[in-house]
Amino acid sequence: MEYIVDRIRRLRHERNAVILAHFYENPEIQDIADIVGDSFELARRAQHATEDVIVLCGVRFMAETAKLLNPDKTVLLPVPDAGCPMADMVTPADVRAIRLCEPDAAVVCYVNSSAAVKAESDICCTSSNAVRIVRSLPQHTVVMLPDKNLADFVARAVPEKRILPYAGFCPTHHQLTVEDVAQARQALPDAPVLVHPECEPEVVAAADFAGSTSQILRRVAEGPEPAFLIGTEEGVLYAIAKAAPGKMLQVVSDKLVCPDMKKIRLEDVANCLEHLWPSVSIPDDIRVRAMRAVTRMMEVSDATLSV
Ligand code: SF4
Repeated sequence: MEYIVDRIRRLRHERNAVILAHFYENPEIQDIADIVGDSFELARRAQHATEDVIVLCGVRFMAETAKLLNPDKTVLLPVPDAGCPMADMVTPADVRAIRLCEPDAAVVCYVNSSAAVKAESDICCTSSNAVRIVRSLPQHTVVMLPDKNLADFVARAVPEKRILPYAGFCPTHHQLTVEDVAQARQALPDAPVLVHPECEPEVVAAADFAGSTSQILRRVAEGPEPAFLIGTEEGVLYAIAKAAPGKMLQVVSDKLVCPDMKKIRLEDVANCLEHLWPSVSIPDDIRVRAMRAVTRMMEVSDATLSV
């Protein structure tokens, strides 16, 4: 009988597919992926994919973003109900209502949003480029949605702008408390605490560093400290341990598990490659407008990175 990993390798070759996995995925999924990264890195890889098929091991908005950036490819989301509760907290009608109240504001939507919400927004951002994106905008007032914690993080970094946060949040990161941070520090007093900007502002303030998962990974790999306390989804520890062997890593709280990111199993990856299903499709009228917001983000990121 063919082992599941061999079946995936065979099908990946037969289908001319690339497998992209988010840092929060289970270790066995990270192990069979061609690229493991945060949502910006996965979007960038999907945009330049030359393969016929992109398997996105993550949640729905990531697969939609891949499809927006490379619409001629078949994009597969191995488990169709792997979603993001934060993305579901805002609807296109909500964005239209905000625009009526704040007609002069730019609307920046976190990439953790549906394609339909992106279609109503001016530009997207990720946690790794949100500050850069907001600084690039000519408007003084900026609505940031759906994550109120990322909006607060940006507002502190860009005080010259008027940032209006939406009320959404990530149910996983939002659970982390200042008490969790204090308790973790007692166990490892010399270890820096690295958290994600999706955590509450008090938690970010209590930490030593806040950044995207890739930025956290780099901070560990490049930092001189031997031990770190990680305040983001626990799946990233596997990727950090691979990138920075020898460092001691501990998650700040065992609450940091995203159930949707744990839904994909190896069998799902093999089956979706076998049947080329479930595939992601986006209606044309939404796709064209959403793509504008995503490609604008990519252009601003590229322009800023190259100076
Ligand atoms: S960790 Fe939070 S933001 Fe990321 S997919 Fe899960 S619920 Fe959404």
